[in-house]
Amino acid sequence: MRTVLIVGNWKMNKTASDAVPFIRELNERLRGLPSHIELVVAPPFTALQAVRTTLAPSSRVQLGAQDMFWEDQGAYTGEVSAPMLVDLGCRYVILGHSERRTLFGEQSDGIHKKLRAALRHGLRPILCIGESLEQREHGITDDVLTRQLGESLSGFTAEALAKITIAYEPVWAIGTGKSATAEQAVAAHQTIRQVLASTISPTVADSTRILYGGSVTPQNIKSLLSSNQVDGALIGGACLQVDSFATIASAASAARSIGV
Ligand code: PEP
Repeated sequence: MRTVLIVGNWKMNKTASDAVPFIRELNERLRGLPSHIELVVAPPFTALQAVRTTLAPSSRVQLGAQDMFWEDQGAYTGEVSAPMLVDLGCRYVILGHSERRTLFGEQSDGIHKKLRAALRHGLRPILCIGESLEQREHGITDDVLTRQLGESLSGFTAEALAKITIAYEPVWAIGTGKSATAEQAVAAHQTIRQVLASTISPTVADSTRILYGGSVTPQNIKSLLSSNQVDGALIGGACLQVDSFATIASAASAARSIGV
């Protein structure tokens, strides 16, 4: 059974001072939410400590980071390592987000090294993959997803892969207000699961959570989660207000009231 996972990626938003009242209010809003879904917030590095402290020990929300470097320590100015994130209480780390790929030139070999480092330190990576609008219009979405999965995941054991979550994030849907339809998301998730089944194992394909990301809102979450192929959502813009994030969490909880 795959537990639904809802992840809020704050991107470069909110100072540590902004984060404290936000998390206090979120904790309040989520009180009483049934425990069959998992919730994660991924603040900027500078707010991790404040968020950790403000999340009550009993909070429904877990801590994630938006990226990390693959080395544990050393002369890597500006970087943050897996042990540093673990020390701050992070359980998840987002890797290979399309903004990292397009704005900061991240390539699959680096993402592969980051996945290895995250797993070595017990972090749960959320690997983002997805096609551009041009690639979709050229009808090569499946090829792109297959290639991105192959390049990022090659050489991992089935045991290691069982700890990875995939986020299908079509680049054209991120921050544009133009979400994929439920049908488009399901088709891509099926492709991803088939690739995992044929290249790793049917068991891993069956147990791996695949999230959808790209302009998820309180209005479309129910439809996106209407298929059991979609195991949750990675949310950008709509996670920045307590009300919309909490509403998405409640809708996800209701959509999967007995899990899948
Ligand atoms: C994202 O950045 O991962 C994302 C899905 O953003 P948005 O929800 O704003 O499209």
